[in-house]
Amino acid sequence: MNKKKGILIVVSGFSGAGKGTIMNQLMKEYPDTYALSISATTRSPRPGEVHGKEYFFLSEKEFKDMIESGALLEYAQYVDHYYGTPKSYVQQQLETGKDVILEIEIQGALKVKKAHPDTLLLFVTPPSAKELKRRLAGRGTEEESVIDSRLSRAWQEAQGVEDYDYLVVNGDLEEAVQKVHTMIQNEHDRVARNHTFIETIKAELQCFAKGE
Ligand code: 5GP
Repeated sequence: MNKKKGILIVVSGFSGAGKGTIMNQLMKEYPDTYALSISATTRSPRPGEVHGKEYFFLSEKEFKDMIESGALLEYAQYVDHYYGTPKSYVQQQLETGKDVILEIEIQGALKVKKAHPDTLLLFVTPPSAKELKRRLAGRGTEEESVIDSRLSRAWQEAQGVEDYDYLVVNGDLEEAVQKVHTMIQNEHDRVARNHTFIETIKAELQCFAKGE
């Protein structure tokens, strides 16, 4: 059978929904199955964030140069800053057969889906809006005005959830991780993703049917 082809997966969700934590845990449990894309951004690093690990932290000029040279798969503006997905790493990893996960916001997600309709779109949400506010405040890395902007952005993003394929309600971390893993692995078995296998078995059956 052909080597398994990697699937492109976009994971979005309200800021504070816990999608970063889910993705880190998924990578820890299945490091040979998934590759997590590292985005470029013009926002400043939070304490503990490292250039080339969480993000590539760029100046606005560097970011705009990437846009102009066509080096980004998609990009969007989010709460005053640019965020974008470098193309090369994603393509490289898909070719090695890994499923590649982009953890990006909704405008970018829809751009990726338009350019690559077979992308799987997952949306992570906390169990309630109250819980989202509690998690954003509890993170302690953001000023109150930024928390307010993120909550108002969450309200806007909630209007676009219907464009996604699956919802992941993040109440219990391990449960959410296993749900995401199952959703992605089931996606590999879609008939539409297995044309080569189907054509091969059809041809073999035809030979049997003819008595060859
Ligand atoms: P944060 O500043 O909290 O790390 O990220 C803010 C938002 O930007 C999150 O919703 C995150 O998913 C999104 N984001 C991160 N990287 C990218 C990217 O490459 N493209 C797009 N469109 N959004 C991104």
